Amino acid sequence: MKGKNQRDLKEENTSTVLKLVKDNPGISRISVVRKTDLTPPTVSRIISFLLNQGVVSETPGESNKVGRKPYYLKFNGDKFKVFAVEMSYTQVKFAMIDLDGKIYHVETVDTSTDISNKELFDLILQYFKEFEDKLSKIFAIGISAPGRVDPEGGKIIRIPNLKNLSNFSVGEIARVIDRPVFVMNDANAEALAEMFFGYGRNVNDFLLVHIGFGIGGGIVLNRKLYNGNFGVSGEIGHISVDMDFGIECDCGNKGCIELYASVNAILKAVQKQIRVENLTLDKLYELLKKKDKLVLNIIQERSRMLGNVLVSVADILAPQRIIIAGPVVKISDYIIPQIKDTLKKRSFYGFGENIEVVSSALKENTGLIGAMSVVLNEFLEHPYEFIAQK
Ligand SMILES: [Zn+2]
Repeated sequence: MKGKNQRDLKEENTSTVLKLVKDNPGISRISVVRKTDLTPPTVSRIISFLLNQGVVSETPGESNKVGRKPYYLKFNGDKFKVFAVEMSYTQVKFAMIDLDGKIYHVETVDTSTDISNKELFDLILQYFKEFEDKLSKIFAIGISAPGRVDPEGGKIIRIPNLKNLSNFSVGEIARVIDRPVFVMNDANAEALAEMFFGYGRNVNDFLLVHIGFGIGGGIVLNRKLYNGNFGVSGEIGHISVDMDFGIECDCGNKGCIELYASVNAILKAVQKQIRVENLTLDKLYELLKKKDKLVLNIIQERSRMLGNVLVSVADILAPQRIIIAGPVVKISDYIIPQIKDTLKKRSFYGFGENIEVVSSALKENTGLIGAMSVVLNEFLEHPYEFIAQK
């Protein structure tokens, strides 16, 4: 075998062992051999390498009555601190989070929708330096942003409503600070967060639906995030529910579901009906708790619209679980039953009643843990990008 292939194969085997140890804290070397098709010498070589790099540790357990003392392996996620950047339409959140998902510090900065490439670049750099000075050494940066993001090319291509920001390249940040930087669409990043730390941990295939300012989706198939192509995957918010007379969307389509069933769209619709100014999600929640008929009707109508879109997606993917995330989690008790009902009644011969529909386990931290998980995913899939190969 030629050099490059050999290296790829070695990295793939290292990735397999690393993922197994991460998912099974306390696993023994023998179990690693049993659960993979790697030979004992290969496993031994990989574990020595990971021990040397400080990525895993091995501790002796209770000694058996017979035979050798067992040793247990553990992923040292706490040793690797990530600078997580969660971009949204009106603010940027910065956090230091380790690869075990522990959050050490968070700062939120309000931003204008006029923000430019240069302003975002300066802001990220400023907070990165502050965090590293105040807290501890950062080993990589993970960024999540709404809109069209190209993770392979490391670019935020376009964010709806942010007209001065386009083709923002994270490569420049990596060059300046000399640390790896990764970027991903926010709903995709949140799907990774759920896969590693939330309700996506014990399923192979699931769909994450982020409902907030807009609606985004993240698809995990066979425990891998589906990345699509062209910087697009899982854009379920832009499936049209009214192709001729629908509201025109920034994306180029008409009648996109996010214009009817996002938190923003729901707030607008309720505001119009009950004639109140500045309706917030908290106020809406109060109205729902008081069983306000008009408000309940609107929520019911909009959730069923979303449910129908999810029936189409489910008919294609048949995921085991659908995880609802984003600000909508606050009122998800009023939305999830409608989605379940629609899935049961309208999916292909009713198979949809088997799909579990749940609200995100990570709640308000899904976004930041998501931005960190972009790095964790890369670390587990391509460990050689971070640690010297032997
Ligand atoms: Zn659209």
